[in-house]
Amino acid sequence: MHESAIRLKNKSIAAARGSDARHYFSIQVTIILYVAKINDIIPVANGANPVHSKRTTGIQETARTQVMTRTRLTTCLLLLSLAGAVVAGEIENVRVWTGPDKTRVVLDLDRSVDYSVFSLDDPDRLVVDIDGSRMALDPELDPEHSGVVSKVRYGVRDGEDLRVVLDLSEAARAKSFLLEPTGSYGHRLVLDLFPKNARSAAERVRQVARSLPEDDRDMVVAIDAGHGGEDPGAIGPSGMYEKNIVLALAGELERQVEEAPGMTPVMIRTGDYYVPLNERFQRAREARADLFVSIHADAFRDRRVRGSSVYILSRSGASSQAARLLAQSENQADMIGGVDLEQSDDMLRSVLLDLSQNASLEYSQTAASRILDELGTVGRNHRKQVESANFVVLRSPDVPSVLVEVGFISNPSDEANLGSRQHRNRLAGALRRGIEKHFRETAPRGTWFAANRDDPARYVVQRGDTLGIIAQRYSVSLNRLRQANAIQGDVIHPGAVLEIPTG
Ligand SMILES: [Zn+2]
Repeated sequence: MHESAIRLKNKSIAAARGSDARHYFSIQVTIILYVAKINDIIPVANGANPVHSKRTTGIQETARTQVMTRTRLTTCLLLLSLAGAVVAGEIENVRVWTGPDKTRVVLDLDRSVDYSVFSLDDPDRLVVDIDGSRMALDPELDPEHSGVVSKVRYGVRDGEDLRVVLDLSEAARAKSFLLEPTGSYGHRLVLDLFPKNARSAAERVRQVARSLPEDDRDMVVAIDAGHGGEDPGAIGPSGMYEKNIVLALAGELERQVEEAPGMTPVMIRTGDYYVPLNERFQRAREARADLFVSIHADAFRDRRVRGSSVYILSRSGASSQAARLLAQSENQADMIGGVDLEQSDDMLRSVLLDLSQNASLEYSQTAASRILDELGTVGRNHRKQVESANFVVLRSPDVPSVLVEVGFISNPSDEANLGSRQHRNRLAGALRRGIEKHFRETAPRGTWFAANRDDPARYVVQRGDTLGIIAQRYSVSLNRLRQANAIQGDVIHPGAVLEIPTG
């Protein structure tokens, strides 16, 4: 009994402070307008303006007997509502994230707010005015992560509003938007600052594409460390963040791909900041990537679940319930990491149009199988087969894309493994070998892989291969392939090593 009463109380507080706060305020505004209307009928002393009718004393002084009762009642209601309004909106926290092309400042709010933003120069500042709010923080900036923001100051404006001033180290273009509550986050105001002389991420990525030699070019691998910045991803039992662990792993994979012949890495995210899901694959497209690999280490409510799995895009439905749930939770990243949905909609729509011509899915499947096989040599696989679901980050129309779960951060032994540099290096090695195998089989003419394909004149038969497919892939006739390997008929077994005739 006692417990349920407390729960009810908490619930009503949550309703007033949380998602229903806006509704709560609209009720207050209605009452205020109602009082203003009464003031219109009543001759108002001292020329009091209905706009200022919030001041209850003014109403009491000017009320006539006729409307006295009504006004008193309204005043009571008004006083009640003002008692609520006295608790102004609160800025509960300030966080700053910096990436190569922008600095993001996130203000945690306890409700949705009205605000305005403007820039000042000499010295460069961004001013944010937030209505009916206050702040009681001492925001300390970590200079390593605060980018163009050198200081955060604030003060009361017009008695009840808040002015936040960001001192900037250089001129920056600002963009701002509000985020609705998601997961463990409440309302947030996001301020993105783009330094005027910064090279955009897209520009840098394009440079990689341009710098590749024309002949025997490298295959480009876009390496995407999941989550980042506002979005920590899954959190392990000992407090490990998915965003950090996958970034470390992505860095190791980058090093290994860089060292391997015939491949060039492009990093989609290089630090602790958030990149929207559709921008991730757009960057891969701009870099003319031959493969996009998104790296994750997610959580499951059952902590016993462990091991790696590899996913590709399916738009027609998921291969399993677990795959569907995973895609759902990954697709929420934009809500947590912070994306101005109004802006991204158009871009997403244009990309979705192309999706009907998605010929890259077949390549995604090969890449995913090779990577899954290799991961199986490093640790256990959670799934024996490549799974598929509707992951937004894999929706590139023309870049074969896979999403790799290198383990479950929710499983204590997976978490411990992921925390070990040695194990991460082994995982990166498995990813690199899987990618290499995929390129060896599929790289087009004009690439280093195609030019050097004849060198290792052996091929290990994979699951799903037919003699015809292998013959086509190496441009030899079916008969020559049969002769060279003394095969009669068409039966080949996975794991068998075939001699590939050259010349
Ligand atoms: Zn993830």
